[in-house]
Amino acid sequence: MKVLVINCGSSSLKYQLIDSETEEALATGLCERIGIDGRLVYQPAGCDKIKTDLAMPTHNEAIQFVLDALTNADNGVIKSLDEVGAIGHRIVHGGEKFTKSVVITDEVIAAIEECNDLAPLHNPANLIGVRTCQKLMPGKPNVAVFDTAFHQTMPAKAFTYGLPYEYYEKYAVRRYGFHGTSHDFVSHRAAEIVGKPYEDLKIIVAHLGNGASISAIKDGKCQDTSMGLTPLEGLVMGTRSGDIDPSIMEFIAKKENLDIAGIMNVLNKQSGVQGISQLSSDFRDLEEGANAGNDKAQLAMEVFAYRVAKYIGSYVAALNGVDVIAFTAGIGENAPTIRKMVLGYLGYLGISVNEEENGKRGDELLISTADSKVKVYVIPTNEELAICRATVALV
Ligand code: AMP
Repeated sequence: MKVLVINCGSSSLKYQLIDSETEEALATGLCERIGIDGRLVYQPAGCDKIKTDLAMPTHNEAIQFVLDALTNADNGVIKSLDEVGAIGHRIVHGGEKFTKSVVITDEVIAAIEECNDLAPLHNPANLIGVRTCQKLMPGKPNVAVFDTAFHQTMPAKAFTYGLPYEYYEKYAVRRYGFHGTSHDFVSHRAAEIVGKPYEDLKIIVAHLGNGASISAIKDGKCQDTSMGLTPLEGLVMGTRSGDIDPSIMEFIAKKENLDIAGIMNVLNKQSGVQGISQLSSDFRDLEEGANAGNDKAQLAMEVFAYRVAKYIGSYVAALNGVDVIAFTAGIGENAPTIRKMVLGYLGYLGISVNEEENGKRGDELLISTADSKVKVYVIPTNEELAICRATVALV
């Protein structure tokens, strides 16, 4: 079956058409600047990217252009939309309602809307993608795959904040966690590579991208994860602060004369390694800067790696041990320096790093030595393929 995977944001949209039998992406791309002017990027497998400026006042036009590109006589990858068996949608927040992927019905849409409060920037945009696909491809099954669902197995002791309990009861304030599709995909792949049943392994996944989170898995279930009610908690990220003393918010608000929105903007967009380095949120720039003697770039990398190591240490305690640690996402897959810095803190676990393997890039790698007590892998994530698989399983 061919599955169209859609990740719809407020002004952009990423897509892939995947053949579920071969698990190959037939075409990938994105629509940018929806509602502003509009640009379609379309890349059939094995070909160069084609970029076209096209007026996209709404997501309606954007998705129509994607469908036109996929079926285009010159460089399309399918003859007609009849070949598309189903559409899989990334939905950011499923609250406590959704513990797994579901086929989208009117009731499901209403239930997702009830979670909009928890992800006001993402969920409404995700639903626009759903509704547009329903309109442009009537009768095709649409499936919702939630970023939060994988983490719904966390026990109450892990998801409950030290706040008045009524906030949980009244407003559902608790830890949810994100990047669930990636943590699910990578942890299952890790078990496959190790060749042991998923349920028998203690696995820690470090999804280190521009947004970054860690999860701890035992007995086949997610036991804890670093992101919280929103993706702001946990690790120091590209531009997000991660964990801070909450009192800093009041302190800085007074000093800088900022309101809540201003503070949230600082914590989400001007903090993290970007804020520390005052240089870039991109680790390629940070490494280059640090190598050229930029102390703040060096410090940003150290703060990042130290926080990752502290989280791994705390999750080893939460799991009472660890069998496998897996690095994934942009930094996890491509930044050997950061992996080495993180693993440098974990010698006490009996981890020993194979420097040569760690120096490689790009594919699945075992980066611990044969005698290391914990197996450490680099496993490229593939959220689109995970969404495709979840979609096929349901339709
Ligand atoms: P993601 O959010 O998973 O797409 O990750 C994006 C981030 O990965 C970028 O902002 C960079 O910080 C990092 N990244 C990507 N490629 C490299 C690389 N070759 N070396 C170091 N960091 C990289």
